[in-house]
Amino acid sequence: MQLYNSLSHKKEEFKTHEPGKVSMYTCGPTVYHFAHIGNLRSYIMEDVLEKALRWEGYEVKRVMNITDVGHLSSDADTGEDKMVKGAQREHKTVMEIAQFYTDAFFADYGKLNCRYPDVVQPATGMIPEYIQVITRLLDTGYAYLAGGNVYFDTSKLEKYYVFNDHDAEDLATGVREGVEEDVNKRNKNDFVLWFTKSKFEDQALKWDSPWGVGYPGWHIECSCISMKFLGEYLDLHCGGIDNAFPHHTNEIAQSESCLGHPWCSHWFHVHHLNTAGGKMSKSKGEFLTVSLLEEKGYDPLCYRLFCLQSHYRKALTFSWENLDNAKATYEKLIARVAALEEEGQVEEPVLTQYKAQFREALDNDLNTSLAVTALYDVLKAETNGATKRALIASFDEVLGLGLLEHAAAMKEREAAPAERAEEIEALIAQRTAAKAAKNWAEADRIRDELKAQGIELIDTKEGTTWKRV
Ligand code: AMP
Ligand code: ZN
Repeated sequence: MQLYNSLSHKKEEFKTHEPGKVSMYTCGPTVYHFAHIGNLRSYIMEDVLEKALRWEGYEVKRVMNITDVGHLSSDADTGEDKMVKGAQREHKTVMEIAQFYTDAFFADYGKLNCRYPDVVQPATGMIPEYIQVITRLLDTGYAYLAGGNVYFDTSKLEKYYVFNDHDAEDLATGVREGVEEDVNKRNKNDFVLWFTKSKFEDQALKWDSPWGVGYPGWHIECSCISMKFLGEYLDLHCGGIDNAFPHHTNEIAQSESCLGHPWCSHWFHVHHLNTAGGKMSKSKGEFLTVSLLEEKGYDPLCYRLFCLQSHYRKALTFSWENLDNAKATYEKLIARVAALEEEGQVEEPVLTQYKAQFREALDNDLNTSLAVTALYDVLKAETNGATKRALIASFDEVLGLGLLEHAAAMKEREAAPAERAEEIEALIAQRTAAKAAKNWAEADRIRDELKAQGIELIDTKEGTTWKRV
């Protein structure tokens, strides 16, 4: 597979440390709020990558952390802990917030057909490991104590900036707008490994350490969790492009200084989901969630298809119009799959031919839109229903669009019109009652819910009727 590597700054053949096996690490969510669909773009594309590797025969072990401590409001080491802010916002404890939003994250993740990772490790569960690695970094001179905190000394590295997306000079300014400089740092890009002192003394979770009672910095968690579950050589590390600096850069600094050899050979970064106003982000206040899409009548898999239609290394702009297009495409696709006859014997040469086309798309830096094209080519192919269905099942192991399941559900609905009619009539009656009570929101909600299921309501003087669209 040819895959772009942010470390070498080029597309290259994806290689693993052990033949046939992939150790894969993913930066997980910071669980202080719902994930927005921008965050989930990253997870969808990482899921496709994982599934593509499995489809090609690799044995993949995927590890994800859950950031429940240490991620401060700025990605540099200043501001309040995001978890503490979340807990204050909702008048709950940090651990309650962490549990609630971890569950919410995996609920959305599942709705988008993303495979649950082999290992999920909350950051708060690894304190002894952080202490061990930080001690080692202090002993070997890569870290220093200042003002009660432990810092990583970036000047000790031969090369600190490893990704192409950042220019050393730009970053040397280090400190972003509105973020105060930490005077304890010897070099601007030094970062905290362990805090005992911060301007914000309301940190909820603290642990004893050789340097005093405190808490870990954000970056150390990913290095330690990865090394614990995936060993000294990591094949593949994933995350959104905003994590490349400083988070991933700092992970590399810590891990390689601790191990004394190169650590992760391949870095996969997913570019941002933007709105008309720029990158979708929680700090801007307004963001879209999977639940909101559902409330508006979109199957979350329409969003998955929307993401697959463009390349992971290009920024993607979200608009409702774009999502409507993806929804229409998804519904037509399901209808076409549902229309396939279950006839004939699987024709092996045809299977081989289209699988090769699909594989070529994946091997071309995970070109998911070409992979979707391969699916359309199967639908148009001159072969029987059994072969097409076998290919669709196979491709969907990677695409994760629930094609055969949704098509079967569609057929079932169509096969039982009487049952369905009763249910639809009941909903129409509820809507009529809502309208009589001037509850327009409820009336609209019912109309939208039916619309999402392909049922259009027609209001006439005599009452409301419906038709399938
Ligand atoms: P967080 O929960 O903030 O730690 O972010 C979780 C993941 O989402 C990280 O890999 C981020 O890089 C990624 N991410 C954040 N914002 C976006 C966005 N607008 N588009 C795509 N990925 C994003
Ligand atoms: Zn991370």
